[in-house]
Amino acid sequence: MNAINNGIFHSAQEAIAFACNYSSQQYAMSPMAKLLQGPSRGSGRGLVGLDGAGQAGMVFAELARIDYWQLAALVTGRLPHSERCDCQRACCRGWRLNPMFEEAVNQLADHVALTLTPVPPVKEFRIAVIMKYFGEKADPLDTAKHLGIPKNAAERHITNIRRTIRELEKNGITALSARLDEIGMLVRAT
Ligand SMILES: [Zn+2]
Repeated sequence: MNAINNGIFHSAQEAIAFACNYSSQQYAMSPMAKLLQGPSRGSGRGLVGLDGAGQAGMVFAELARIDYWQLAALVTGRLPHSERCDCQRACCRGWRLNPMFEEAVNQLADHVALTLTPVPPVKEFRIAVIMKYFGEKADPLDTAKHLGIPKNAAERHITNIRRTIRELEKNGITALSARLDEIGMLVRAT
């Protein structure tokens, strides 16, 4: 591995922001879209993006090596949430949710149902919790009410789901920092 002596990023957060920004500007089928295809990743995934700019490629390669769900949680919050829409329909407000953001939230909603006990019921509710966590307009308690989920149960589920996502983000940052540091991409405070 070629170490870059001086590093380029001050933190893993900065590296992810760079990668997210890079992918939304550079590619139709972006390296980020390829990364977010799901948890069953082949061994070749680490090479995504290496033919593009070297730095972004290296960040993507390291992102591809951390736990998939840590990656998904880390990236979801930093993807653009919405994009312009030119569909011309009367009901259109001129923008729509970024399909990559929507898909990542969708995957995380499935993931928390598989890992949490008791299982947070109904995907629509889980999606509302995660959308709100990432700053979208959503009202999980109202969604729960419509779905007939008792308020106290809903509140417990909301706490558990938020904690799960927060831990994935935290552990993902730790893992990515270690990897970036190992290949010399982090600026060392000396
Ligand atoms: Zn539209």
